[in-house]
Amino acid sequence: MTDCLFCKIIAGEIPAKIVYEDSQVIAFNDIRPKAPTHILLIPRKHIEKLSDLNADDAALSSHLMLTVGKIAEMAGINENGFRVVVNNGPFSGQEVYHLHFHLLGGKQMSWNPA
Ligand code: AMP
Ligand code: ZN
Repeated sequence: MTDCLFCKIIAGEIPAKIVYEDSQVIAFNDIRPKAPTHILLIPRKHIEKLSDLNADDAALSSHLMLTVGKIAEMAGINENGFRVVVNNGPFSGQEVYHLHFHLLGGKQMSWNPA
């Protein structure tokens, strides 16, 4: 956990453009944006990946989901729509092992992986 990039952002040890924060989550701009708006929403609690959430995290999980729309509205991407991506584990290409939701918006998505 001490080597976790996103924990360091939460601690203020690595700078980030924070767009939203509360007691449970923070959201900041992705450093290599893949869309005009690319925000990462993360829990303050260090959880490596989505599939590591457990029953103790039920309230936090709910809060994360409810915060997606709030951030999208604040960022001005809610009306046109946006994509939420969560990479989970090696085959997904997850690079940072601290749970994060990518919020991608501001352009028409050209690829529908689902
Ligand atoms: P993932 O591949 O799902 O683990 O996504 C990790 C994301 O973190 C990538 O989109 C990176 O561009 C982003 N990222 C890496 N370092 C930073 C940083 N210092 N600040 C903001 N975003 C970062
Ligand atoms: Zn972490």
